Amino acid sequence: MDLLLVFYYLIFFAILLAPFLLFHFKFHETASPFGKDDNEILSPLLQKKSNTLDSLKDLRSDFHSGKITEEEFQNASIPYLEELENLEVKLTAVKSQSSPQVLTPVKISEEWTCSNCGSYINVPRAKFCPECGSTRLA
Ligand SMILES: [Zn+2]
Repeated sequence: MDLLLVFYYLIFFAILLAPFLLFHFKFHETASPFGKDDNEILSPLLQKKSNTLDSLKDLRSDFHSGKITEEEFQNASIPYLEELENLEVKLTAVKSQSSPQVLTPVKISEEWTCSNCGSYINVPRAKFCPECGSTRLA
């Protein structure tokens, strides 16, 4: 076989593999190329929560079957309940961080006075002062 042909084969395969290699090294296989998934942060917390709930259920079934007394049940469930409360706080914190801020619509009434230059504007839906150009939403 011609040595030049081998050389061209190698170049051809390099070009063919380049996009796959780029994808493999640039992005982690587990991570989405479209940005970080919210569930990635939430899922360990949710997992912990369901584990804690399972433990509580086990405790309750032990109590109902008479393996432990009511006092033992209550004492044993306190740490789990505290854990649940902590998880709940963390979950709401993560959720409020990741959810986009909702912009409250500014109510636009009829006449208004410019807060910058003080001129009276009777253009009903004007968002900017026609005199000085400052926004009325500021
Ligand atoms: Zn003005």
